[in-house]
Amino acid sequence: MRELLRKNIACLVPYSSARSDFQGNASIWLDANENWQDFVGDKGINRYPDPLCKALRKKIEEVMGLPYENTVLGNGSDEVIDNLIRCFCEPGKDSILLMPPTYGAYRVFADVNDVFSVNVPLSPDLRLDLPALKKAFASQSGNNGKGGRLKMVFICSPNNPTGGAQALSDIREVADSFDGITVVDEAYEDFSSQESAVTLLPGHPNLVVLRTFSKCWGLAGARVGILVASPEIRKVVESMKYPYNLSALAQREALRALENADAVREGRRTIIAERQALIGKLRKLPCVKDVYPSDANFLLVKTTDAGGIYRHLVSRGIVVRNRSKELYCEGGLRVAVGSPGENEALVAALKEWKA
Ligand code: PMP
Repeated sequence: MRELLRKNIACLVPYSSARSDFQGNASIWLDANENWQDFVGDKGINRYPDPLCKALRKKIEEVMGLPYENTVLGNGSDEVIDNLIRCFCEPGKDSILLMPPTYGAYRVFADVNDVFSVNVPLSPDLRLDLPALKKAFASQSGNNGKGGRLKMVFICSPNNPTGGAQALSDIREVADSFDGITVVDEAYEDFSSQESAVTLLPGHPNLVVLRTFSKCWGLAGARVGILVASPEIRKVVESMKYPYNLSALAQREALRALENADAVREGRRTIIAERQALIGKLRKLPCVKDVYPSDANFLLVKTTDAGGIYRHLVSRGIVVRNRSKELYCEGGLRVAVGSPGENEALVAALKEWKA
């Protein structure tokens, strides 16, 4: 792993925050130039949060089974994706490999960091195109003639925007055949019956799995993402992230969600049942050509006229995502599974649609 790191990251002397310097017991904290007065009602927000999110990570281990020594938390998994690119990819030289159609932020974060992206599309049946991937790994198609390297591969499973999970055996094959960092983004894993790529971590030191509290855990507004990887990768990301990247409020809300895990699991069952019911209803509509099977909390709905139907739904106060320009997604609208009432309103509005 170390030879994949950017040199400046490999030899980084991390920022040492006030509270990380001190070990032991104390009751008077004059080390971090905080305001001793708490203006919002004794909530502790006048103090800096724990940079390592220790209590939250212990609770994540207990409830989600992701070991403490393997996790770093981010301000959403978006922050973790950006951090990973900044750890491993030399700007102006190195590349990441993406598999369209996929989550759009990977390419944007690569562009922001002046890192190239190489596309190896999913196969038309939306699986990983293993022969094409192996060819790209062998030819190092990411070096751009600039001395760079293909450093990272992003697998989104379940995939946004198509909704399906990738076979674990295919993910294993990528991790086995790629000598860089394989990232498996499992933002929607909670809604899937597919086994998690976390099970592959023991034999794959260069594998990174991403999770988030934004979907099933209902905390998109709090911004909490999880990186799960070897302790070595964890330490590297820990060393370069913003020291206080997770606010005290975010840490507290995520802890509360984990303390209410039973309610969250019940909510997940409701969403999955509603997803299946919605697929059945949508498939019966004349304006719907197909609905992709989904392991997530959204559906990619192939329609007869994505633009027209999108505008029609907006006129009824319903906003969905038009993904019809993405590869294999012609006519595609991506629809989150809403409450039973919202889903009913969606189906009723679609029934009204006339081209
Ligand atoms: N990965 C995927 C596949 C996503 O769809 C999203 C959000 N839509 C994210 C990551 C980012 O999630 P977060 O809110 O944790 O930053």
